[in-house]
Amino acid sequence: MTVRGRNPLLLLILALPVGLFGCAQPAEPEPTAAATEAAAVVTLPEPTLEVAAAHSEVHWTYEGAEGPGHWADLAEGNEACGSGKAQSPIDLAGYAGEDLADITFSYLPTKTNVVNNGHTIQFNYDEGNTIEIDGTTYNLLQMHFHAPSEHSVDGKLADAEMHLVHKSADDGLAVVGVLINKGAENAAFKGIWSHLPDEVEEVGTDAGLVMADELLPAVRTTYRYDGSLTTPPCTEGVKWNVMTTPIEMSEAQLAAFSEIVDPNNRPVQPLGDRALVEDTTP
Ligand SMILES: [Zn+2]
Repeated sequence: MTVRGRNPLLLLILALPVGLFGCAQPAEPEPTAAATEAAAVVTLPEPTLEVAAAHSEVHWTYEGAEGPGHWADLAEGNEACGSGKAQSPIDLAGYAGEDLADITFSYLPTKTNVVNNGHTIQFNYDEGNTIEIDGTTYNLLQMHFHAPSEHSVDGKLADAEMHLVHKSADDGLAVVGVLINKGAENAAFKGIWSHLPDEVEEVGTDAGLVMADELLPAVRTTYRYDGSLTTPPCTEGVKWNVMTTPIEMSEAQLAAFSEIVDPNNRPVQPLGDRALVEDTTP
């Protein structure tokens, strides 16, 4: 990843993959040698990054005393998790239909590194994959999974959800979400699903070349709204694009993930004053 500045959001993003999407600790409350090592790795001179690193060391979970209802209280900087007015995920309902400009996907077979960070299984991408939304280009950083889904449609959760996280040159974040329902075996996932790490780890392993384009549904219209990261620190200003067409995976494929990762979906958040738009382009 190229460091272009010292904007706080970028510095938060630099904490990936042991930062925003992983707290660098396995389930045990005791700090492990590996967690200590990870903390050392992210201790850089920039004060803002140290704050981000401090966040990454705070343990959080999807249930109990460190669950979503308590995230805001677990660390300074997590306030948006409790008092934010533009949080994700949301229930995708009550949307206005609009003819939106298509998202242009420029994905190529790309080297990936997979890590089980204790919250999800994440595939980190080498540079080279981009999307363009409304004239802005975003680079694909990583994709990860939630089961059940985080977004619901008319109150109904899907069996799982894939998030492709992208960042623009000026540090804007755009996530493409794809809902996953139980159905036919999905051949496009056979390769990467053979690399699911069943142990929490600090350092990922090579997952080979992945063609992200093959993982997406054929119809690429989306629901769009302005939201947040769905994990602490719940940073807002994220452009959400959830595909209106779900994909399918077999029961065995869904189980392969759920046998490793406990339910990891943040509950839906109020839409509030935000606009939710469904692309109705055929
Ligand atoms: Zn996610």
